Amino acid sequence: MVSATGESRLSRQPEEGRPDIAVSFEFFPPKTDAMEDRFWASLSRLAPLGPRFVSVTYGAGGSTRERTLRMVSRITNETGVPAAAHLTCVGATRGEVDDVVRGYAEAGIARIVALRGDPPEGVGHAFTPHPDGYNSAADLVAGIRKLGDFDISVAAYPEKHPQSADWDADIDNLKRKLDAGADRAITQMFFENGDYWRFVERARKAGISAPIVPGIQPIHSFRQIAGFAGRCGASIPQWLADRFGGLDEDPETHALVAAAVAAEQVTELLDSGVTEFHFYTLNRSNLVLALARLLGIRP
Ligand code: FAD
Repeated sequence: MVSATGESRLSRQPEEGRPDIAVSFEFFPPKTDAMEDRFWASLSRLAPLGPRFVSVTYGAGGSTRERTLRMVSRITNETGVPAAAHLTCVGATRGEVDDVVRGYAEAGIARIVALRGDPPEGVGHAFTPHPDGYNSAADLVAGIRKLGDFDISVAAYPEKHPQSADWDADIDNLKRKLDAGADRAITQMFFENGDYWRFVERARKAGISAPIVPGIQPIHSFRQIAGFAGRCGASIPQWLADRFGGLDEDPETHALVAAAVAAEQVTELLDSGVTEFHFYTLNRSNLVLALARLLGIRP
């Protein structure tokens, strides 16, 4: 029970008395030299926080295959930060996907975020596996497990994956991925912490004991994040839209509101017992650095 003065809140306890908090940071592979500069600048600011790992996404349909491998290899070889490569099975044979996994292993990459991916037409369209390909993330996890001793993360959806027929199908699918050998689930972005807690409760009731790490999306641009959310089936609550309403031309207030919203979300999760966090950085460091500080993590 939180007292009126907030004394029992974990986020207000002296840092030495708090449980260890693990963070991971997700990046995307940059397309241009300028974007690559920002990638490395952000990584060098976040690396001293000692993340459990930083991960680099795999563009839709494998479009960033080489860039993902190059970025994760460089992180592994040049920074000493543990790095995870994302991998999807869209539009590729099992053999081709297995070759990517072997390439990761040869580059010294020991962590994979294993995903089905979405069809090239977009998230709303039915997924048709390649005739010789892996047909789901669970199938992919089983394939990766046969190829080496990787640390494997998979995706989870606090608001249900848009293509899951119902909650049972959604939780069964998560269980299949973990039973196939995944070590943890990382959630899609969400803005109502209640959705996360209800999801964790459903998973625990179904016998899932693996960590379900909340994926936190700091809002650098509300317009952009609302677009992402719409495409991936995450909802934007009215109160959130209201907070950012009319701020398109006022970047300073927008940034302050974004910091306040994300601070409220992570401190509430911390206060209710969450000890692992995954941040969608969009290759930026400022907000994530501030949020890590609220979690008691400093360089
Ligand atoms: P799955 O777990 O395979 O499930 C997808 C849907 O299919 C679910 O509704 C499930 O219930 C259903 N399903 C699974 N198996 C069956 C079956 N046998 N029969 C009927 N239905 C079935 N996308 C990228 O392209 N690149 C990335 O780098 C990337 N990184 C991500 C990281 C995180 C943390 C998250 C949460 C998502 C990421 N995504 C990425 C998006 C992801 O690819 C999409 O959300 C995709 O739609 C589903 O992928 P999945 O791995 O969850 O699929």
